[in-house]
Amino acid sequence: MYSTRLVVPCTALGRTDSRSLTEQGHTGPSRHRADVRRSRPLSGRITSNAADRRTRPGSVRGRRHDRRRRIPGALAGARRAFDNGVVLTLAVVVAHPDDDAYGIAGTVALHAADEDFRFILIHATDGGAGDIAPGFRATAETLGQTRRAEDEAGWRAVGRPPDRHVWLGYPDGGVDQVPFGELVDAVGAVLNEEQPAVVFTFGPDGIFGHPDHIAIGAATDAAFARAAASDGTAFRRLLHGAIPESVFRRWNAQRAQMGLFVFQPTETYHMRGVPDDRIGVSVDCRRVANRVVRGLREHRSQHHVMSDDPDDVERWQRVVSREWHVIAWPPRTQAQPQLADVFEGLPG
Ligand SMILES: [Zn+2]
Repeated sequence: MYSTRLVVPCTALGRTDSRSLTEQGHTGPSRHRADVRRSRPLSGRITSNAADRRTRPGSVRGRRHDRRRRIPGALAGARRAFDNGVVLTLAVVVAHPDDDAYGIAGTVALHAADEDFRFILIHATDGGAGDIAPGFRATAETLGQTRRAEDEAGWRAVGRPPDRHVWLGYPDGGVDQVPFGELVDAVGAVLNEEQPAVVFTFGPDGIFGHPDHIAIGAATDAAFARAAASDGTAFRRLLHGAIPESVFRRWNAQRAQMGLFVFQPTETYHMRGVPDDRIGVSVDCRRVANRVVRGLREHRSQHHVMSDDPDDVERWQRVVSREWHVIAWPPRTQAQPQLADVFEGLPG
């Protein structure tokens, strides 16, 4: 997601539809619907397989009652609030394999050993339209399967595979053409089953202005809003992964000094930042950065897209040493202190 190099991050090379949704924002589903009416509807399907519903041995599903008894006092309110007994459930909703390798993987690694942590992962696409480096053993027909396997290997390398991993099966590069209501329903179905405390997705910037990112983020926002309105016991916080403007400028300046490609933040597929004062959560991931890098290095088919030098592990560790989020819900005033963890302060 935070490519240190610009090819076209997150696949979609060869897209002929370069329509930018950057300015659409997540509050404009009506405009989105107008867009998709003009587009050929694409069918999608939930392909949650047996592995998707896998549960870690001796964990979560089978131990909910035990876990209720062991929840520390600080979370006692949450224990009462969540009927299913699952407290620290994080749902990560992204577009492509590798979107989840940055930006939130450190948070998952930090909570990996927490017995009250549950991790739900939703991918809109399998990334099958991604660029294939010369000599890499994949074809346009097999890349999606390869990238699914890479993503799963990535989480094993991080040390905390998801408790449930759902592949929605939409076309890579075509998520923004899926009827919006269908996309909301697909995400919402999983969220409603899991009742997560915290949901993570893309904001209207899509990190790269990538239409797939923006579309899945907007759908997740809508699904979150609908679920939060109908059930007050979960859905405590909606997060948008983001790069602070100051950090973006620093990275871009470093790139210029190194003679590398410089991002133009108004262009589709270029990295962009958000104003620093909109960052509500800033997570120090330095102590798990090595695990995050091990995970993203499993995305071998995308190394040529993800980094100018995939073997420069120290540089990758610096990039993933902190994760930032905009708190999209509940409303946050700029006077409120920045949080240091996605679950901090829950329940309110
Ligand atoms: Zn992506």
